[in-house]
Amino acid sequence: MAAKELYILALDQGTTSSRAILFNHEGSIIGLKQIPFTQIFPKPGWVEHDPEEIWRTQLEAARGAIEAAQIEPDQVAAVGITNQRETTVLWDRASGKPVHNAIVWQCRRSAEICQELRALGLSDLVREKTGLVIDAYFSGTKLMWLFAEYPELRHRAERGELMFGTVDSWLIYKLTGRHLTDPTNASRTLLFNIKEGRWDEELLKLFKIPAAILPDVVPSSAHFGLARKELLGAEVPVTGCAGDQQAALFGHACFEPGTAKNTYGTGCFTLMNTGSVPVVSKNNLLTTVAWDLGKGYTYALEGSVFIAGAVIQWLRDQMGLVADSSESERLARSVEDSGEVFMVPAFVGMGAPYWDSEARGTVVGITRGTTRAHFVRAALESIAYQSRDLLVAMEGDFGRRIPCIKADGGASANSFLMQFQADVLERSVVLPEVGEITALGAAYLAGLSVGYWANLGEVERNWRKKREFVPEMAAERRARLLERWQKAVGTARHYK
Ligand code: ADP
Repeated sequence: MAAKELYILALDQGTTSSRAILFNHEGSIIGLKQIPFTQIFPKPGWVEHDPEEIWRTQLEAARGAIEAAQIEPDQVAAVGITNQRETTVLWDRASGKPVHNAIVWQCRRSAEICQELRALGLSDLVREKTGLVIDAYFSGTKLMWLFAEYPELRHRAERGELMFGTVDSWLIYKLTGRHLTDPTNASRTLLFNIKEGRWDEELLKLFKIPAAILPDVVPSSAHFGLARKELLGAEVPVTGCAGDQQAALFGHACFEPGTAKNTYGTGCFTLMNTGSVPVVSKNNLLTTVAWDLGKGYTYALEGSVFIAGAVIQWLRDQMGLVADSSESERLARSVEDSGEVFMVPAFVGMGAPYWDSEARGTVVGITRGTTRAHFVRAALESIAYQSRDLLVAMEGDFGRRIPCIKADGGASANSFLMQFQADVLERSVVLPEVGEITALGAAYLAGLSVGYWANLGEVERNWRKKREFVPEMAAERRARLLERWQKAVGTARHYK
C-alpha cells in the first residue's frame, strides 16, 4: 500500500473568526473551515472575547478542515498556530478555566494606565527593551488593568495560581496542556526584552506583574507538545507559532533583510525584515521579533496605516457612494485621475510617520466638476499614499531600499489600487497565488520543524506569484501627485 500523503494544519485564530486550513507540500490549500465568534463590547472603546468560545470555535474549525479535505487525522504531520496578537487571557492553573474574558488588542481600557506610565518617564526604557511604545494595545497594560481592578487576581497570581497568555499560549495550553509562547507573541506584551530574549525583570517589577504567570518562551518553529488524541483524532505535534503579522511576513517568504510585505485590510500592516538587527526607528515605528527558527532572532520594523480598507467601508456604509467594495475599482477606473481631489482619511488621527492624533479626515480640491468617481478614486489613492509614506519611513530607518512589496489582505483584490501603489512607490507590487498567506506562514513554521519542508529554500520556491504590478507612471506626474498629497496631509493636520 502506498504511504499516506501528509499535510500541515494551520490554526489561524483571528479577531472575528477562528479558521483552520490544511496545506500540502506545494503550499496549496486542501481544506478550510472558518467559524465566526462573538464580539463583546461592555463599554464604548472596550472589546472582549470569551476564551472558551475562541477555543471551541478553533477546535471545531480544525476538525472541519480535516473533514473538508477528506483526510484521516493521522495524515496531519504537524500543527502551526497563528493568532490575533496582544489579546490577553488569564486562566486558573488548577482548573484551566479563564478568570476573566480575553481583553482584545483593540480594547482601550488601559489607556489611563499608559498615560501614567508615560508621565513616569518610562517611554525610552520601554522602547529600548521591548521595541514598543507605551500603548493600551499591548498585553502588559491589560494585565495591569486586571490586577488593579481585581486585587484578588493579583494575590492569586503572586501565589502562582494563575497563568497568563496571548491567544497562542491559550490554544497551545488547550491542545497540549503546556504553558508556552514564542518570541513573536512575547514581543507584543511590553514585558519581553527583545534584545536579550527573555522576560524583563525590571519591567515586570515596574509594572508589578508576577513572573509566576508567564509562559516559557520557545522558538517559533519548535516542538510545543502533542495535541491530545481526543481533540483531532490523532496525537499531532504542535510545532509552529507566530503572531499573525509575523506569520504573514514568513508566509510571503520575506527572508532577506530589506524585504517587506503590506497587508491591505481594514488598516494596513507593514512589516520589513531587518535581519539579526533590532533597528530602532526614528519615525516611531515598532521594532519586533519577526521569528525565531532556533538560531537567533530575526527582527522586523512594523508600522500600520489606521484607516485603509476602512475608508471604502465608510464610503459604502456611511456615505452610500458605493454599493460594495469592488464597485470602488470600477468607479476609479471610469475617470482618468482623481480630478485634483485628495482625501486624507485621518479619522482617528495619523500614524507613522506623522504621529498626529489631532489630525482629522479631510478632502481637498473639490470643484463643481467633481463626481462620485473622483471621490471614490481619491479614497483608494489615499490607501496607497499612506502606505507609501510608511514604507519610505521604514527605508529611512533601515537605510536600505525595499526591492518590491508583497501584498495580501482583502483590499489587495483591487487591481486599480495595486497598480496605483506600484506607481506612487516606484516599486513592483506582487500578489501571491495563495490568498491565505498568514495561515501559510504558520504552516511553514510548523512544517520546517518536523522536516516536512527541508529548508527555507524549499519554502521560497513555493512562493508563487499570481500577479505583478510594475510601476508605469511618468516621474513628473508622480512627483506632482506626491507634492499635492503632502499638501493635503498638511491641511488635515492643521485643521484642529
Ligand atoms: P480585516 O482582516 O482587516 O478584517 P480583510 O483583509 O478581510 O480585513 O479586508 C477587508 C477590507 O478590505 C475592508 O475594509 C474592505 O473595505 C476592503 N476591501 C475588500 N475588497 C476591496 C476592494 N475590491 N477594493 C477596495 N477595498 C476592498
